[in-house]
Amino acid sequence: MWLGCSAYFIRLAGCDVGCPWCDTKESWHQRHPSHSVTQLAAAAQAEQPKFVVVTGGEPLMHDLAPLTQALKRQGLRIHLETSGAYPLSGSFDWVTLSPKRSKPPHPSLYGQASELKVVIANPEDFDWATAQAAQVPPGTVKLLQPEWNTPDSQAWIVDYVKHHPDWRVSLQTHKFLGVR
Ligand code: SF4
Repeated sequence: MWLGCSAYFIRLAGCDVGCPWCDTKESWHQRHPSHSVTQLAAAAQAEQPKFVVVTGGEPLMHDLAPLTQALKRQGLRIHLETSGAYPLSGSFDWVTLSPKRSKPPHPSLYGQASELKVVIANPEDFDWATAQAAQVPPGTVKLLQPEWNTPDSQAWIVDYVKHHPDWRVSLQTHKFLGVR
């Protein structure tokens, strides 16, 4: 939904969701450098982004209240990108719920979703997407994203959206552009 905006990413360590196509497997373990929430918030503020994205790994494996409080003290807008596998903590201006079949969302997450983003890696994932969409509030933006290493998924999604116009196509543009 926020494609092309200046975003500062805070990637938190740890994930036990286990998506087979995960492109951030290095985030699964906890052996990464530690930083205080004050350090993280100051580093984000120094970049003057449009907003900060808190993601992972699976960020909700952590209590996000101290981090979001520190970011708010810096006057920053805060987005969350999560599989929803754990209950919500912290306070956010936007929540991207990207549910994964290997570990479905905690029921409390559905009502918090600003947008629903479902990765499509095989044709059966459209049924999964439909079931997930039935649980988010009306008006939630609904996005389908091709799995990067499944080229056929692009055509599947384009065809699906043509027949289901309440869904939108979501592309990992940073990969097309080579931006890390
Ligand atoms: Fe990777 Fe995200 Fe799936 Fe965790 S939830 S395995 S970080 S894609």
